[in-house]
Amino acid sequence: MVVEDVKCKWCKVEEEDINHALLYCSSFKEVLEVHLSFLQDFQAHLDVLQILAHLVRRNKQGEIEKLFLCAWGLWYRRNQFLYEEKNLKPAEVLDNALSGYSEYQSALENQQQGCKPHCGWQLPPTGVMKLNTDGAIFHDFCRSGAGMVL
Ligand SMILES: [Zn+2]
Repeated sequence: MVVEDVKCKWCKVEEEDINHALLYCSSFKEVLEVHLSFLQDFQAHLDVLQILAHLVRRNKQGEIEKLFLCAWGLWYRRNQFLYEEKNLKPAEVLDNALSGYSEYQSALENQQQGCKPHCGWQLPPTGVMKLNTDGAIFHDFCRSGAGMVL
């Protein structure tokens, strides 16, 4: 008989379920509440679906988007720890997960105002060099590629 250790790999106190992994682990809870201050309005230990239902009923689209982005980041952090043996800091993971959010909001506002989003390459200011990069990983083919233009 195989008994798996169900304790959280970060705090080693609580059992790891989806709510602990995405909302309540002490290894990131304070940082998460800085990024998602609305979580402090909820009673302790509501589950992810209950919080999501509250946000939907209140039509808090921005908060829903941030909740999903943070959940993605925290799940990524968990998988990096469990499968890649990388110990990423919660603040870095959450900052990274939310980094595109304000840019996305700005683009969305411009689109709603009838502005066309600028998708082309922009010349850097005089005296500044610009490095454009892109990359892709194809796990199924064990191949990757990257390109740069200076
Ligand atoms: Zn934990």
